[in-house]
Amino acid sequence: MNARLVTSLTNPTVKAVRALHLRKEREATGLFVAEGLKIVTEAVELGRAPKILLYGREAAGHPLLKKAIQATEAAKGEVIEVTQDILAKVSRRDNPQAVVGVFAQVFTPLEAIRPQAADCWVALHRVRDPGNLGTIVRTADAAGCGAVILVGECCDPFSVEAVRATMGSIFAVPIVRADEAAFAAWRESWPGSVVGTLLTATKAHHEAAYRKPALILMGNEQQGLPPEMAALPDVNVKIPMRGRADSLNLSVATGIMIYAATA
Ligand code: SAM
Repeated sequence: MNARLVTSLTNPTVKAVRALHLRKEREATGLFVAEGLKIVTEAVELGRAPKILLYGREAAGHPLLKKAIQATEAAKGEVIEVTQDILAKVSRRDNPQAVVGVFAQVFTPLEAIRPQAADCWVALHRVRDPGNLGTIVRTADAAGCGAVILVGECCDPFSVEAVRATMGSIFAVPIVRADEAAFAAWRESWPGSVVGTLLTATKAHHEAAYRKPALILMGNEQQGLPPEMAALPDVNVKIPMRGRADSLNLSVATGIMIYAATA
């Protein structure tokens, strides 16, 4: 199991992996980067073999890396050993992870959602911040949510920053995309409660009925939910703000809502 050693930044595979920092390149190839042996191992365990696996000398010989290499090769992927400098450039970090995997993006169609499969589902309208999105995917995984639904124009769940923030949950939680009209039409047949979040709501989040499966709807970091989206839920709620802050961070508010809906 001796992988080819690559030392040049002009190597075509290295260049292709580095290019995945660009959204247009991720969209063109349908690929994304996930860093770290733990996360790559998680993907492999969930049956998602890397298309490309890069590793540095310090990881060579690790039993989990051997498994990841076997899975990559069995799926006809490419495995290369690279220098620390290449890992740093690929990750854009001085202290890069010793293992980097390139994977196929997977989006789940809205129509594939089976509401009874989970007690809580999360819809995010126009989420902008990749750190928020990744943190929400991680929280949705931790709480056993069915999917994270991205409504309207959102940031890319497969950007390096978003994937990092998911800590591996990107492989465990289905990601769905829908435009506003498709979401509004689909929501009509939702069998449980649809609960929106609004800073102007009069009902507190803990007073609402979350009939399962609950679908919670969160707004954009700057604007919140616009009127046409705020009209979709059965009820809109506000998490009480007791100090001087006028709102919570989106990922924090989503975590509170998910756990209220699954209590
Ligand atoms: N200026 C925006 C507004 O007026 O809605 C603030 C948006 S807030 C930073 C981003 C999202 O987080 C909101 O749309 C909502 O989904 C959620 N959120 C933040 N604080 C909340 C609270 N106290 N109650 C309910 N949702 C909240």
